[in-house]
Amino acid sequence: MAQYSKKFAALDTNVVHAGRPVPNIEGAVVTPIFQSSNYLMGDETSYGDVRYIRLSNSPNHQVLHARLAALEGTEAALVTSSGMSAITSTLLAFLQAGDHLIAHDKLYGGVQTWLDHEAPRLGIASSRIDAKGGGWEESLRPETKVIYVESITNPLMEVLELEAIVAFAQRHHLTSIIDNTFTSPVNFRPADIGFDVVVHSATKYLNGHNDIVAGAVAGTAAHVERVVHVLNHLGGSLDPHTCFLLERGLKTLVLRVQRQNASALQVARALARHPKARQVNYAGLESDPGHEIAGRLFKGCGGMLSFYTHTAEQAARFVERVRIPLHAASLGGVESLVVRPARSSHLGMRPDERAALGVTDDLIRVSIGIESADELVADFEQALDEA
Ligand code: PLP
Repeated sequence: MAQYSKKFAALDTNVVHAGRPVPNIEGAVVTPIFQSSNYLMGDETSYGDVRYIRLSNSPNHQVLHARLAALEGTEAALVTSSGMSAITSTLLAFLQAGDHLIAHDKLYGGVQTWLDHEAPRLGIASSRIDAKGGGWEESLRPETKVIYVESITNPLMEVLELEAIVAFAQRHHLTSIIDNTFTSPVNFRPADIGFDVVVHSATKYLNGHNDIVAGAVAGTAAHVERVVHVLNHLGGSLDPHTCFLLERGLKTLVLRVQRQNASALQVARALARHPKARQVNYAGLESDPGHEIAGRLFKGCGGMLSFYTHTAEQAARFVERVRIPLHAASLGGVESLVVRPARSSHLGMRPDERAALGVTDDLIRVSIGIESADELVADFEQALDEA
């Protein structure tokens, strides 16, 4: 069985080399795709070590597990078939019938729907609160087991008091779980400030090319082992060919995200100066409510921003007139994307529910890619001028 290299000190080196097979398999510089569902048995006593794609233990999985653990600064990691599979398997690993979880009230829509419609069928209750100003204590119940938050929330790009949330979780012996998709380990490593489990939609920044769907979980070996157990039974393993693509995408993570940090800041500043942009949500702006926390915890504020125009019609015209970004959902890839959350991710809600969350018809969400920042700024300005 192949051995896998240890981690290095720097993230820039780990993103390329941590966990690579040692010695290289048949001299191959990159990890070959192990397109074999099953593997030869060892002796009669080794059935417990059986290798099979659904058990996430092919060489392609092992490399990614070691690499992601090195990137998140955790003992262990696991890849899954999607971000949703990473999240639901993790929640099911730490919650059972009769348990309760507390979560921020602005989460990725798929998780909100799961908490509202699927988790209750399994006897799992949740309280969702606007956690910007604290307020966790009031929601605590004797049966509360988990706290769940996102590092930067979608689509308003809020940054919560993450250190206070960890302290609260530790005080009440809760498992703290954070979705680190929007920041990526380049900008923030939640385990460094004490989060127990980190989840990702690896579809986004980790892969970065808008061409696969994948998820990841990172944490202590004991925490990850609990998720592995659930994932093995639910069957949400990642196919080896997609593992290969994720490993390839990951190698440029640092380069991409650093570029996206700088370009998003440049675009956010330009939008903030434009008379047709009513408000820009980006923690990198000095005026943003999340600026102070992000400055303390994050190395950069990422490639995601959102802004309000003055009317729904202006927002619609902006999306029509912008030339470089594509009008599409998802995020975190090399192509810049624009989308109106009220017309996409939040379409299923009533207008008053959307308004209560700040997701009005004049809101536009932007995922900044790796194109020329100057050209993006010029394009956004011309589209707003004409909107
Ligand atoms: N978490 C966040 C923050 C997301 O934006 C998404 C998807 O958009 C997910 C999780 C779900 O990930 P996936 O689509 O890979 O299942």
